[in-house]
Amino acid sequence: MIETKAYAAQDEHTDLAPWAFERREVGPNDVQFDILFCGVCHSDLHQIKNDWFPGVFPMVPGHEIVGRVVKVGSEVTKFKEGDLAGTGCLVDSCRVCENCQQSLEQYCLNGSSPTYNGYEQDHKTPTYGGYSNTIVVHQDFVLHIHEKLDLAAVAPLLCAGITTYSPLRHWNIGKGHKLAVLGLGGLGHMAVKFGVAFGADVTVLSTSPKKEEDARKLGAHHFVVTTDAAQLEQAKGSFDYILDTVSAEHDFNMYLSLLRTNGVHICVGVPPTPAQIAAFSVIVGRKSLAGSSIGGLKETQEMLDFCAEHNIVADIEKIDMKDIQIAYDRMQKGDVRYRFVIDMATL
Ligand code: NAP
Ligand code: ZN
Ligand code: ZN
Repeated sequence: MIETKAYAAQDEHTDLAPWAFERREVGPNDVQFDILFCGVCHSDLHQIKNDWFPGVFPMVPGHEIVGRVVKVGSEVTKFKEGDLAGTGCLVDSCRVCENCQQSLEQYCLNGSSPTYNGYEQDHKTPTYGGYSNTIVVHQDFVLHIHEKLDLAAVAPLLCAGITTYSPLRHWNIGKGHKLAVLGLGGLGHMAVKFGVAFGADVTVLSTSPKKEEDARKLGAHHFVVTTDAAQLEQAKGSFDYILDTVSAEHDFNMYLSLLRTNGVHICVGVPPTPAQIAAFSVIVGRKSLAGSSIGGLKETQEMLDFCAEHNIVADIEKIDMKDIQIAYDRMQKGDVRYRFVIDMATL
């Protein structure tokens, strides 16, 4: 077994603290890589707080993981020692269901294995995430990372990147579309970058007036402060798509009113509480309320390749492992520009 150092939450009431555990030995199809950087996703905070469902504790969060390969199994063909490698939100899936067959592993009908807060495919071995010094993953769930980009800033692509890239691709959002990105945080700022790269007319809908300058630097064409009634009134009926990245309770009916006829409101943010939606909000104007979860392995690699080609990375603030609680507090207050990334050398 491989001795592993980590930060873990022992239950939903305690802060993260140093913890040690063992990862499995490198099997024939496994890749072991030492973790250099791990992004901090709002989902990490939701999950250690049991916002969505009772978690699997002790919990080692982290699913935006990049590092360098230190060992590969005898059957591994995709990686060799010294290569850069990455792992996102999934470490395995059943591989045989119709969704897995189409590389939609995130929608595995038999339950995919999340990188943490879940189980391997034996449904009994807990998985532990990237707030740790090393990880062992089946080669099919390890991504190739290009050497040319800033590695720390690549880490958030593994969740924030693919979660916004995938719906934009699925709905073919680009030239001729008016796209609103709701919430300018980790996911939101990547959505702006991709929306602009795909040629859409991008508006940021934000509760934070002070983010306007950043939004424009990210490439957004317009900025609407959602707490300003006059600005909201003007935005009514104007968007083809809203990509909703908000992590907390918000009024879906109000945001649906900003869509044009046939517009689509795509949820990627996962507030802890269910929303109240009036049927009239979608009936009038034949609107759709949709959702999207991360992305499959094939699409994640495609997104990483696209980012390397177009020089797209996240805007990050590097932190030491010991400061994770401060980062969570700031994230809770919407004070992130725009993703915290843990430098794992500080573990
Ligand atoms: P984040 O960095 O904290 O960004 C969330 C943003 O939402 C904030 O910066 C803020 O933007 C806005 N916001 C927060 N509270 C709000 C409120 N009460 N009303 C309106 N806007 C509010 O979080 P993140 O890491 O981007 O994650 C966002 C959400 O996506 C989380 O719920 C996370 O769990 C979820 N997620 C889902 C998937 C998926 O596969 N579907 C994958 C990853 C993450 P402004 O300051 O601009 O208003
Ligand atoms: Zn995430
Ligand atoms: Zn499956």
